[in-house]
Amino acid sequence: MQFEATPEQVEAVCSTIREFGLEPLALPGDRMAVGIPSAIPTDKREPLDAVISSLPGVSKVTHVSRPYKLSSMEFRRQKTVVEVKGVPIGAGHFTVFAGPCSVESYEQLTASAVAVKAAGARVLRGGAFKPRTSPYAFQGLGVAGLEIMKRVGDEQGMVTISEVMSPDMVGVVADHVDILQIGARSMQNYPLLIAAGESGKPVFLKRGPSATIDEFLLAAEYILNRGNPNVILCERGIVGHDRTYARNTLDLNAVPILKEFSHLPVVVDPSHGVGVARYVPAMTRAAIGAGADGVMLEVHPNPKEALSDASQTLTVEQFQKLMDEVRRFADAWGMSLA
Ligand code: PEP
Ligand code: MN
Repeated sequence: MQFEATPEQVEAVCSTIREFGLEPLALPGDRMAVGIPSAIPTDKREPLDAVISSLPGVSKVTHVSRPYKLSSMEFRRQKTVVEVKGVPIGAGHFTVFAGPCSVESYEQLTASAVAVKAAGARVLRGGAFKPRTSPYAFQGLGVAGLEIMKRVGDEQGMVTISEVMSPDMVGVVADHVDILQIGARSMQNYPLLIAAGESGKPVFLKRGPSATIDEFLLAAEYILNRGNPNVILCERGIVGHDRTYARNTLDLNAVPILKEFSHLPVVVDPSHGVGVARYVPAMTRAAIGAGADGVMLEVHPNPKEALSDASQTLTVEQFQKLMDEVRRFADAWGMSLA
């Protein structure tokens, strides 16, 4: 719309879009824009362009150049800050998510929470439903693990996050934790994305190991278009050609790219990205340099005995040392630790 467009002129554009059987989305900014966050049938494009361009107050009609819409900078000109119980994620804050790969017991999670909180982490992670490559590996404590997560989160005053693997479990996971994690293997489980979108809870969406940037943002789109604006993107490593020395290839290219094309916060998970504890600090520092809004790190009071992802899990001492570096690196980039 033109700078001086009146609310009536904006409404006339919206009602014209509705007359074409489409739903408009008002996008306030320096000046108002009106978007159409759905596919426009080819036969409607030209007539719609012609009618709208001729309406008073309209500056120009453009077509978004990317397949995703709601997650795109073209649809929302301010960066999204997802705020969970007072903890900001995005836009100038650097937020640390930390905790064990899996919730194993009340004692294990409490020890992890106390340690990571003291070192500066704001969000406590821990899986109760674990997507394991082998059906014979530890599958997580299930609902009992969620109950431990809720209790420890409450007792330690931390925001909590845990993975949900199927649409029918969204309700129970949402009842126990503050943020729903959708794992890399589930990034293209569309019924799960829709259910997470409808839950109204913030969603932490991990990039699939083989997903392109467009596929990743289109997965986010499934959550956003259910009316849930609180999506956090997570780069956690993609499949590389050499898996001898590292589990995955942490795609740090994705960070500046996602931040250019999307307004959503971008968090990096160096633990899964590299898969080897001793390389996690270097990739954490690199993630800050790349412009990430935070990191997710696996930490355990006794990694050697961790029931999952032992080899990539930091000890409490390693985590404390790394947090000193995180503070200095974030500060150097003009970011405050959330
Ligand atoms: C996890 O966070 O423990 C996990 C299973 O991660 P990903 O989905 O990235 O493999
Ligand atoms: Mn893990």
